[in-house]
Amino acid sequence: MKKIETIKEIRNLLSQYETNGRSIGLVPTMGYLHEGHLSLVRQCKKENEITVVSLFVNPTQFGPTEDLDRYPRDPEKDRLLLEELEVDLLFAPGVGEIYPENYDTYVEVEQLSRNLCGRSRPGHFRGVATVVLKLFNIVKPTCAYFGQKDAQQAVIIKKMVEDLNLDIRIRVMPIVRDHDGLALSSRNAYLSAEEREAGLLLSRALGKAEKMIEAGVTAVPQLKQTMLAELKENPLVRIDYMEMVSLDQLEPIDTVDPRNTLAAGAIFVGKTRLIDNFILGEI
Ligand code: AMP
Repeated sequence: MKKIETIKEIRNLLSQYETNGRSIGLVPTMGYLHEGHLSLVRQCKKENEITVVSLFVNPTQFGPTEDLDRYPRDPEKDRLLLEELEVDLLFAPGVGEIYPENYDTYVEVEQLSRNLCGRSRPGHFRGVATVVLKLFNIVKPTCAYFGQKDAQQAVIIKKMVEDLNLDIRIRVMPIVRDHDGLALSSRNAYLSAEEREAGLLLSRALGKAEKMIEAGVTAVPQLKQTMLAELKENPLVRIDYMEMVSLDQLEPIDTVDPRNTLAAGAIFVGKTRLIDNFILGEI
């Protein structure tokens, strides 16, 4: 595996592969890798001749009061994990490489960025879309891999690819969970044992709603009430949002559509923000 820090160098290397017509898969990450990330890497390896993983903690997707400075990092461990999986290229640019002085261009997927996480994190998806488009332009992948864990992000990236006529296939892979159901996240590292227990309520609440739907409940107010009641059980939990929306438009719904529903929640446990979801249908 080669670790590369500059755009010039990765372009040079990748141009050789492109001219040979080989498929390039890209897995964008912010590092501090866990099994969720690694599942994307494995899928990418299976489906492409060249696998590129990017590791970049993107400052433009963090709000001014968010955790950019304390976001967990362990680049050496990440490198070893990716080497074990026989990744071809690790692209780990510095901030100045991606956003040189006087950087001035941003991409916004407007409507889809308004609800859910977009409401409580203004500017977040603008930062995400911008950095992902830049990575696409730098790596020119055939296919790029994202996790359903960040469902709104995946919907937004797919829409950006469609709207901007990018010739890139987007693959969205299932949520990888810990043994107790907690969705894996780099931010879980912030949680104390007590907070982790509280954080579990999010996957439990979603799981309850999923079971109710399986049993035939389709009324969204009833499902939301059940999920909110579950979350209110623990005083350490502060609910950011708990919503059911259409999977394609991310607009609120009253009735579950078995082919087009996203149930998504975000909670704060102490200072840590956790998200989780389930979908009916496909992103
Ligand atoms: P991040 O490093 O948090 O930006 O995540 C990089 C990619 O990994 C994103 O596409 C995430 O959706 C995906 N990802 C993060 N956690 C999980 C998980 N638990 N299961 C599956 N994919 C995940």
